[in-house]
Amino acid sequence: MFRQFLAYKCERNGGQLVKVKPHFTIQDCSYCGKRVKKSLSVRTHACPDCGLVLDRDHNAALNIEKAGLAQIGAIPAIYSLYNCRSRSRLNSIKQRLWR
Ligand SMILES: [Zn+2]
Repeated sequence: MFRQFLAYKCERNGGQLVKVKPHFTIQDCSYCGKRVKKSLSVRTHACPDCGLVLDRDHNAALNIEKAGLAQIGAIPAIYSLYNCRSRSRLNSIKQRLWR
């Protein structure tokens, strides 16, 4: 019911609802892809590989965004797999999409 309502609202506003699998969206680094295990009480994502420090929910949101964009073909799947560190390219793709 909620999903249908959300899909309706998205379509009505010219958007598209994309369902994303939530696996590891909290643990994976949104910048380099390193899996950083953390307990529920740890609220900050701090990547030992690339040094990214973000609120854990912000990090998860970036992972979900990337997965959704890859799912609709807006960005190549390789970007969702974090093999590319080109954040500026990802940002330019997002800017074109959300104009
Ligand atoms: Zn990282």
